[in-house]
Amino acid sequence: MKAAVFHGAHDIRIEEYPYPKLPDDGVIIKVHSSGICGSDLHMYSRGGGDGMIMGHEFSGDIVEIGKDVKDVKICDRVVAIGGVGCGECYWCQQGQYIKCSKLSFLGYGIKGAFAEYTAIPNFKIGMYAEKLPDSVSYEEGATAEPLSVALYAVNQVQPKPDDICVVTGLGIIGICVVQILRSRGVKTIIASGRRSKRLEIAKQSGAEVVVDAAKEDIVPVVEKVAGSRKADVVFEVAGVPELFHKSLQMVHRGGKINLVGLYMEQVTWSPSVIVGNDITIIGCGLRWDLPGAVELLASGKVDTKPMITHEFPLDQTKEAFETQLTSQDAIKVIVKP
Ligand SMILES: [Zn+2]
Ligand SMILES: [Zn+2]
Repeated sequence: MKAAVFHGAHDIRIEEYPYPKLPDDGVIIKVHSSGICGSDLHMYSRGGGDGMIMGHEFSGDIVEIGKDVKDVKICDRVVAIGGVGCGECYWCQQGQYIKCSKLSFLGYGIKGAFAEYTAIPNFKIGMYAEKLPDSVSYEEGATAEPLSVALYAVNQVQPKPDDICVVTGLGIIGICVVQILRSRGVKTIIASGRRSKRLEIAKQSGAEVVVDAAKEDIVPVVEKVAGSRKADVVFEVAGVPELFHKSLQMVHRGGKINLVGLYMEQVTWSPSVIVGNDITIIGCGLRWDLPGAVELLASGKVDTKPMITHEFPLDQTKEAFETQLTSQDAIKVIVKP
């Protein structure tokens, strides 16, 4: 099969690659659409992981089914979050591999979906896999994974309609957070990001105030909107150290900060501010709700179609990465093997 194999910074090559092995507890999927994630871009820019096939935001058709897998048939249109644990620790024995300290994800430890076919272990419909209803396209299906992260992030915080919510970072996850907050009736959403297209879609998605982070500091904007009350919740989706510090300034005593974006740089700070101000800091890397995400797409409560800005064939995966990295218009770039 053909696959886009990563060989170092800015070096992705289309190569012949061995067809994946069918796991007993998994399936082989013929990949239809595979989105480029911010975390893929970090690796693409910095290198490391020679020989890796990235890609974990994807949709496709089942072409082979392992003997222990239930509830699916050949040709089912599906999405999945591929992960595998060590198989031996307490959590793996409980069937909760997601809590395994040696967890590997599709597109990192496991060969990913920038390829014609991908093998998904631990495939269970309703857990980290779901069938796509006819009304949800493959392209939208490829956005279910980032949407599932956004949904989990909002569910962790359980915001109330009167809460003042701040979202920093307007990639697809940040914009999905805005849409989910809106669908839950949250009235005051202040969002900040870069790139004009993203700001425009965040506004259309229901953010009351949108801040162009390239031109304006979000802290005084939140002070102006929220006054002495300050923000109830900050979703820090950008993974930028400066925004971590700003989150601590924007949230009120007793408020919540959900860290959704991955940080590539160290942050130096004093935890005393958490102690003294009774702030809850939450991490967002565990129970992503993929079935819930598919439901949001099917119901129309979240619409990711305007966020799918570019599509490339597998042969042009490198161009796709460059576009996701640099284009002013890019929100979600999809590769179609
Ligand atoms: Zn991702
Ligand atoms: Zn384990």
